[in-house]
Amino acid sequence: MGDIRVFPLSCAVQKYAWGKVGLDSEVAKLVAGDDPQAIIEQDQHYAELWMGTHPKGDAVIKDNRIPQRTLGQWIAEHPVCLGSKVKATFHGQLPFLFKVLSVNTALSIQAHPNKELAVQLHAQFPEHYPDNNHKPEMAIALTRFEGLCGFRPVEEIITFLNTVPEFHALVGNEASDELQGAAGDLRRVAQVLKMCFTRMMNCEKKVLVDQHNMLVKRVTEDEEAGRDTSGCQGKLLLRLNSQYPGDIGCFSIYFLNHMILQPGQAMFLGASEPHAYLSGDCIECMACSDNTVRAGLTPKYIDVNTLCEMLNYTPSPPSAKIFPCTQDSSDPHTFIYDPPVPDFAVMRIEVPANVKEHTIQPVDSAGILLVISGEATASTPSCPSDWTLRRGSVIFISANESVRLHVTSTCGMTMYRACCLL
Ligand SMILES: [Zn+2]
Repeated sequence: MGDIRVFPLSCAVQKYAWGKVGLDSEVAKLVAGDDPQAIIEQDQHYAELWMGTHPKGDAVIKDNRIPQRTLGQWIAEHPVCLGSKVKATFHGQLPFLFKVLSVNTALSIQAHPNKELAVQLHAQFPEHYPDNNHKPEMAIALTRFEGLCGFRPVEEIITFLNTVPEFHALVGNEASDELQGAAGDLRRVAQVLKMCFTRMMNCEKKVLVDQHNMLVKRVTEDEEAGRDTSGCQGKLLLRLNSQYPGDIGCFSIYFLNHMILQPGQAMFLGASEPHAYLSGDCIECMACSDNTVRAGLTPKYIDVNTLCEMLNYTPSPPSAKIFPCTQDSSDPHTFIYDPPVPDFAVMRIEVPANVKEHTIQPVDSAGILLVISGEATASTPSCPSDWTLRRGSVIFISANESVRLHVTSTCGMTMYRACCLL
């Protein structure tokens, strides 16, 4: 019995105030699906489900034959389970945190430093930058998912400067004119965009308050009169203003792409990419770090200098910000989202209704599997007993283990799996 290498987990729920409430939340629905006895409170915010070993939410092992209580404790005793390359590369630790997010109100606009900058920021300002690691993230929509990501094409920003006078006032005449003049010259555009964004972030408090009030008043009146405000993103502006009244982040919508992801579509948020999650449910996977530089929609500290220096100012359309997945060459039911970082990859496994036997393929990396829909009886070659997987089930899979599924639901299964593809 010393050989249990695949086992179910009970995962930590984070009840942040921005989360969806009660059974509106995918996080709450998954928890209730996995444990019919779980009590979901209709006035609680179910923001995040954490599937990993983070000390603030180390997953609890649901197998009473295993003496360790949590996944972190078990991995510390069995580092071989990580796979040899992962174990060596990440010093015996699981390198990623796998999550489900249910977003009701916007999270702060932010960017994450690259490794080099993270080391420097942590040494200089440990109170704001708690570790020395980078924090690449990937979000994959489970429901219609809305966010901000990357700088818009420069023509769109110029149009907003010309049609939203309050935005123009924050950026200023000089920077606005330079952006018009730079259009077409890519290197110059990035430089001038940086100047425009920096001017806005550094504008005088009084100017910000006045222009913000004017814009909100104007758009509110237009909306009430039934006039079209889409030219200044009126509905989005008013919604963000109702969540963060007077916040500089409300103006960031004129710089950043407004993304709408359909289920299965992903955004990869590499170093220095400005982004925010606005609404909807998603899978998220990230490297283990808490380093975040904020840019608005937040009551928290904004490090304006670091932020304006570090961002990726290359404009691109929203379609370029959608991260593609590829079909696994050895399994037609598996789609891989493999970002250009070593810390994690995510697989989406879609077993169609007519397929009743499916094997989760072994990889040379520990992984965590979450069932989004469907039911199956699962077993592994190394362990004689089997167990039931259903919506909300989470299992840990050691490196090089396969899991055989006998699908018992009639409409197939959808699962997500996080691991490392080194
Ligand atoms: Zn982020």
